[in-house]
Amino acid sequence: MESLSTKIFKNEFADMFEGDVSGQLNPRQTPGVFYAKAIPTPVKAPQLLAWSEELAGELEIAEPDETDVDILAGNFISASMFPYAACYAGHQFGNWAGQLGDGRAITLGEWTTSKNLVYEMQLKGAGLTPYSRRGDGRAVLRSSVREYLMSEAMHYLGIPTTRALSLVSTGDMVLRDMFYNGNAAYEPGAIVMRISPSFLRFGNFEILAARQEHEHLQQLADWTIKKFYPHLEADKEFTAHQKIIAWYSEVVEKTASLMVNWRRVGFVHGVMNTDNMSILGLTIDYGPFSFLDAFDPDFTPNTTDLPGRRYAFDKQHTVAYWNLGCLASAIAPLLKTTEELVTVLEAYQEIYYDKYYAMMANKLGIDQREDGDSGLIDAFEQMLATVKPDMTIFYQLLTTMPLTLVHQEEILSYFNPCFYSQPSDSEAFFMLINTYLERIAANTSSAESRLIKMRANNPRFILRNYMLHEAIGNLEKGDNRLFMKLKTAMQQPYDVIDDEDEFFKLRPQWADDQPGSSTLSCSS
Ligand code: AMP
Ligand code: MG
Repeated sequence: MESLSTKIFKNEFADMFEGDVSGQLNPRQTPGVFYAKAIPTPVKAPQLLAWSEELAGELEIAEPDETDVDILAGNFISASMFPYAACYAGHQFGNWAGQLGDGRAITLGEWTTSKNLVYEMQLKGAGLTPYSRRGDGRAVLRSSVREYLMSEAMHYLGIPTTRALSLVSTGDMVLRDMFYNGNAAYEPGAIVMRISPSFLRFGNFEILAARQEHEHLQQLADWTIKKFYPHLEADKEFTAHQKIIAWYSEVVEKTASLMVNWRRVGFVHGVMNTDNMSILGLTIDYGPFSFLDAFDPDFTPNTTDLPGRRYAFDKQHTVAYWNLGCLASAIAPLLKTTEELVTVLEAYQEIYYDKYYAMMANKLGIDQREDGDSGLIDAFEQMLATVKPDMTIFYQLLTTMPLTLVHQEEILSYFNPCFYSQPSDSEAFFMLINTYLERIAANTSSAESRLIKMRANNPRFILRNYMLHEAIGNLEKGDNRLFMKLKTAMQQPYDVIDDEDEFFKLRPQWADDQPGSSTLSCSS
């Protein structure tokens, strides 16, 4: 175990690439560089609200003492750290937005473990950077709690994600207009220490392409491959062209997998702009996300997205494809011909659907047939979209359904706990469950292996927005009990734990139209 304050940090990214090292924080365009040095702005009274013991253990980081908490709050920078904000661009809601960059995230350095694993350590909410544009570089407690808990929850769900090491309240107040309707109010500020092998986004490549800094683009692609796709670097048969294609094809594959994983647990990211798409296929930048309560494919938690519902649950895999198209355009200048790049991009749909149907078969506990079982799976999702049961509770009930149920009333009454309202076409619901029971009976694998598969693919505990909303409200009043309960519950999301079954219930009615629970914005 090593402490944050005495650790010798590496700064490979900053050492490797051109940066603006002036340290000036005024908002500006930074052509020609990959990052700008940005020292965190100190906060008034940092207080450690949460620490991720397991992650710290994995990374061999000692329990934080007072000086370490100062690091987690941006109040102390040790000698080996080189704090910087990365420069990137992005397509936001389908439109080119130009330079964005880390407006409130500051990387302090890279932590290495005894096994030589390397992680970037980044503070979110640590103050102004040259990329803050009109923002204040800060984050409110509400959004920091959401990012802290949710990124860890995704990890425990087995979904690729950036991690969160700590949550610190700053003692400073931050002004936010939560719904951009002229009702600005002061809210407590907070900072999360995020951890990831890299926070590189599609947008880091897009900015270099847009600025026609092709040499830099090549450098970044080479470094990314060498660091994060080392097996490609090791393959000496590859030409430079083939290496780029092979790398892009892995990004396509990882992104498709991520979309399937989100779909599996009912996660809606909410802001799938290309600056929020990780080059490592991780879930990144937790903002107005939500799990589905009722299974509604059109659901978007983000009020900014309401007009077009571009980032709704059912659109995520298509948006990912669109975003991968932006990445392809960005790296195209590295290739003499782009046919192969296009072929790899076009393969996305098939990769996604193969993974999706395989995942759904596991979720339903059916032995997938040669044809992929798309008929049954599509019928299931259509039925769910019509009936709109609670997604999580429905699949839990399906997992433990006694196979002896035969009558329509029996089946409806068994599934009653997952309905927000009674199915209008209960006959159709019944027929489909019947077809499903027949399929289960035809499984060649054992009932036990079916149960194991379904348990492993259907979470019993999800961090619902109303729970987060309640925990945040309590925390703002100084009561951290619910927050701590959720922090524990999220660590075993697939297990049946009696004590935590207080969370195994429908979303309560009070949360239906509650701002910050069912509706969220990008204001954070
Ligand atoms: P997001 O959609 O939250 O990932 O953020 C989009 C862009 O806005 C990124 O460049 C962020 O760094 C920037 N941003 C968001 N909030 C703030 C803030 N409070 N201060 C400065 N920049 C911000
Ligand atoms: Mg972002």
